[in-house]
Amino acid sequence: MSLVRLEKINKYYRVGAHSLHVLRDVEMSIDEGEMVSIMGASGSGKSTLLNILGILDAYDGGKYWLGDTLIQHLGERQAAQYRNKFIGFIFQSFNLLPFKTAVENVALPLYYQGVSRRKRNRIAAQYLERVGLLDWADHRPSEMSGGQKQRVAIARALIAKPRLILADEPTGALDSETSHQIMDLLTEIHQTGITLVVVTHEADVAARTQRTIRLRDGKIVDTPVAAAS
Ligand code: ADP
Ligand code: MG
Repeated sequence: MSLVRLEKINKYYRVGAHSLHVLRDVEMSIDEGEMVSIMGASGSGKSTLLNILGILDAYDGGKYWLGDTLIQHLGERQAAQYRNKFIGFIFQSFNLLPFKTAVENVALPLYYQGVSRRKRNRIAAQYLERVGLLDWADHRPSEMSGGQKQRVAIARALIAKPRLILADEPTGALDSETSHQIMDLLTEIHQTGITLVVVTHEADVAARTQRTIRLRDGKIVDTPVAAAS
């Protein structure tokens, strides 16, 4: 059963008097439980597509179904509700709050759900333990390595028990050894049944997903199939 279904999605950015056609009739479907990568050159529309999937941005034409909900013309509040309920985000630059500790960063989604401080910090500690960082609970991001910061961000993405995790170049700021470890962790998370979409321009990251969707100039290009000889 598909968790994500896009039908002829189009997206334009207005830049001054001009209009930039960034996504062109994008059609795709991602099954519940899949781990998929989206690849494409810089500027091909990967982040725009991911932001639409994450209900962080609206689209101009087509239809986006998330489960059996049509994600269209949502108000800010309703969009935030769906986002908080279904979706976890991981970014290249981690997007941690600098003046909060690791445990407070992980607990943040529960703060927005109105969970008490004591309870959310207890749950956040469990998620930090799961990503191997319990000992770092009281440290701030500036005291951590890139790989550690990404683990904190992953724990934060997991804490609200999302069905879908969207990762925009999650290894883009990491060395190859650390990238490998982060992909190990994402693979583990995928194995618990969470659907994962990973935007990357690194072939070895894409190779660790089950399927790669390729974008060129805002259009999906058919995955090249090895020619049978
Ligand atoms: P990618 O993530 O593949 O590098 P993006 O989705 O970020 O690509 O961008 C696709 C195109 O849209 C690029 O040409 C980019 O310059 C343009 N773009 C992205 N965001 C905006 C914006 N907020 N306003 C105007 N143009 C944008
Ligand atoms: Mg991008």
